[in-house]
Amino acid sequence: MNLESNTTVNELILPDERSWNVNLIRELFLPFEAQQIIEIPIPRTDQVDTLIWKKARDGVFKVKLAYHEIKAENQYQSRQPNTERIEEGMNGSPVCIRCWKDEEYEKHVLRDCEFAKKLWFGSPFNLRTENAVGERLESWIFGMLRQMQEKEKSLFGFLLNQLWRARNLLVFEGVSKPIDEELLRAMGA
Ligand SMILES: [Zn+2]
Repeated sequence: MNLESNTTVNELILPDERSWNVNLIRELFLPFEAQQIIEIPIPRTDQVDTLIWKKARDGVFKVKLAYHEIKAENQYQSRQPNTERIEEGMNGSPVCIRCWKDEEYEKHVLRDCEFAKKLWFGSPFNLRTENAVGERLESWIFGMLRQMQEKEKSLFGFLLNQLWRARNLLVFEGVSKPIDEELLRAMGA
């Protein structure tokens, strides 16, 4: 079974509405993602699905949290046994397996890679990330967030997360997702 772009969280919850459909979630997501989902408490009252940054308790994206989360996930993945470390180049530094560039890996994956550029430009932000080349990733993220409303911040964080997720899918599962699908999912369409 594959996730359709219009899949909602409801479909991952058992009909009793009090517990996750653990088997389905394990089928659909990478092991560490499934674990993270299962650990999210299910609200007791009915709520409308909204776009949230799930790491923040209030659902609002916080850049420091996101940045540390990405770092932590990276370290977590490095510890995974039986994982082919195919993103490692000859010298042990990570290389983007979409374009085989190896400079400043996180900045590349989240902003400067062609894949990321297309996603940012095609997103509602209409960003041209080549304008940011040379700028540190963290300062770029903070700069962007400073100009944004809360809702936009959530979407921005969500897209960062999607880029990292797409990278994980490619590195660990060998699955390359078309950008449109990522975008649609990110925007909850
Ligand atoms: Zn790349």
